[in-house]
Amino acid sequence: MTDIPLLSHRIGGHPASGGADWQPVTDSASGDVVARVPMGGADEVDRAVAAARAAWPAWREASLAKRSQVMFAARELLNARRDDLVGLVVREHGKVRGDAAGEVQRGLEVVEYVCGLPQLLKGEYNEQISGGVDTTSIRQPIGVAAGITPFNFPVMVPLWMLPVALACGNAFILKPSEKDPSASLLIADIFAEAGLPDGLLNVVLGGREAVDALLTHDGVDAVSFVGSTPVATSVHHTASRAGKRVQALGGAKNHAVVLPDADPDVTADALVGAAYGSAGERCMAISAVVAVGDVGDLVVGAIADRLKALRVGPGLDETSEMGPLITAEHCERVAGYVDTGALEGAALVHDGRGLSVAGHEGGHWLGPTLFDHVTTDMTIYRDEIFGPVLVVLRADDFDSALAIVNANRWANGTAVFTADGGAARRFQHEVEVGMVGINVPIPVPMAYHSFGGWKDSLYGDLHIHGPDGIRFYTRGKVVTSRWPGHRRAGVDLGFPTSS
Ligand code: NAD
Repeated sequence: MTDIPLLSHRIGGHPASGGADWQPVTDSASGDVVARVPMGGADEVDRAVAAARAAWPAWREASLAKRSQVMFAARELLNARRDDLVGLVVREHGKVRGDAAGEVQRGLEVVEYVCGLPQLLKGEYNEQISGGVDTTSIRQPIGVAAGITPFNFPVMVPLWMLPVALACGNAFILKPSEKDPSASLLIADIFAEAGLPDGLLNVVLGGREAVDALLTHDGVDAVSFVGSTPVATSVHHTASRAGKRVQALGGAKNHAVVLPDADPDVTADALVGAAYGSAGERCMAISAVVAVGDVGDLVVGAIADRLKALRVGPGLDETSEMGPLITAEHCERVAGYVDTGALEGAALVHDGRGLSVAGHEGGHWLGPTLFDHVTTDMTIYRDEIFGPVLVVLRADDFDSALAIVNANRWANGTAVFTADGGAARRFQHEVEVGMVGINVPIPVPMAYHSFGGWKDSLYGDLHIHGPDGIRFYTRGKVVTSRWPGHRRAGVDLGFPTSS
């Protein structure tokens, strides 16, 4: 293994070594080890925090024009290096090229959003809140922010956080997933090339040990986390107890409700893309369909027809529509859920187990899988599977379908398929979920809106990127001012009111 490259952290603008141990990073389509990731800990976090704190004061004082110029330059370089980013995502994550290109594009759009930083950071002003007195509300950076990101969007999720934090005048420490960390390193190098001063964007590689050190470090002011719900819960508790501002986005079970008047073919096209794109490893993947009335048989039949033709293969092969899963362990875990679903009595309509891809036998393969007649007490409904497994539940009417969605502990995204505007309006109004699609299966908000779920899909008050991102990475200050020249009123010990 020693001939396999050992990756470096990025601390203070330079590659840095450190970490007691390393873990393999695999090419998901072949199973080959392509890199070794050092597992940083408290020591590396200390060094990164020291670099960030040293760099922050000057950046905080940098003009808005200077900060947005760096974002413009980073946007150009990221755009120019788009293919390199896509290549790293395909190799380490496994998603197919078109899908990886989509994630890079959505990340890039966050950088484009913060290029308009001076406009986004405009404050508010009231002249004459009292005689000769004015009030200004401004937002200032919070200091050093940390971001902890999952494996499934190795470019987009870091770019949900770091451009916003940096543009707002903060320093940032990124702890990417240890399963596919190389894209984060390239992003840090690109920002350095764009003119971001050393120390403002640090990358500490590793896993739990590095995260634990960040959550309680005195030099960290805010934590953004995206990952599974159990870790999100613990990150939210630990960092909040340590006095930090926290947003922790967790897992999901996203439902699509299909009403009887939905077109079965159009709906099946949308559902296959939403359930099996990125091998179901998307936090906004549709993983449960609630079919209302007679439409169930039609939609299940139409999905099953499409699965027979779906091409599973390595992401670099332009004909592949779905790639491998992230690791052999995760693949086994997902296959275990298929076993459980069959044992629990769900109808296995399409079975993805036992798939082998010629020439790529070492890859982490599991074909698309479809269960029908699933009930809410089954493990395959209750758990987040995070793989290419779609479960279909049946409901008699709109109200019982809505009740199923609203009783679920997760509430990231949801969609309704219907031609009835009144039903769609009711769904939008009554569903208890953070992001809603109406005939749109994956309603991921664009960069200039904020992304976030409800209930066990997000802990904290503010969603990520968009206007909430600007609020998260800044804190408010309100200035009330009076200048000499007004009439002397004398001493007054009463509570001030407007006059
Ligand atoms: P994960 O929770 O295993 O890991 C996320 C991050 O936390 C990684 O950087 C990892 O190194 C670190 N980590 C893992 N275990 C930890 C522990 N015990 N203590 C501290 N840190 C730990 O998630 P994952 O498997 O990388 O990603 C998939 C999960 O992320 C899914 O549940 C998915 O739904 C969720 N996700 C949610 C969103 C969202 O916006 N809500 C977006 C993407 C992914």
